[in-house]
Amino acid sequence: MAKTSKFVAIALSKCPKCRRGKVFTGTLYGLNFQKTNDHCSHCGMKFEIEPGYFYGAMYVSYAFVVAEMLNVGLITYIITGNETSPWLYISTIIGSILFLTPINYRYSRIFLLHFLTPKIKYYPEYDTDDKPGNI
Ligand SMILES: [Zn+2]
Repeated sequence: MAKTSKFVAIALSKCPKCRRGKVFTGTLYGLNFQKTNDHCSHCGMKFEIEPGYFYGAMYVSYAFVVAEMLNVGLITYIITGNETSPWLYISTIIGSILFLTPINYRYSRIFLLHFLTPKIKYYPEYDTDDKPGNI
């Protein structure tokens, strides 16, 4: 069985250790998009590795939102051709941020788990169809 690439694991919100178990329950735009599993269903890794660990995701989310605001503002400027009404920019930026909130929430946690926590490592031996159990 082929191993899961890091890109696919991030895109599908999978566990950083085994790249098989889901980090979140529910669907991306469902009512419980923010519900994070306590442990990986495949390898048993505890996602909140220390109390308050996911507070760090707020900083990642902040960076995402700033980048999105700049891009949406720039795209609005390009599409509307030098429109000067501030309400156009305010409404498009706020609308896009509200629309992207579930994505920002989930991928800030995924980004934190996969890239910003050096002690979480990928174990290819867990990336199998056989469930390794709690390790
Ligand atoms: Zn796992």
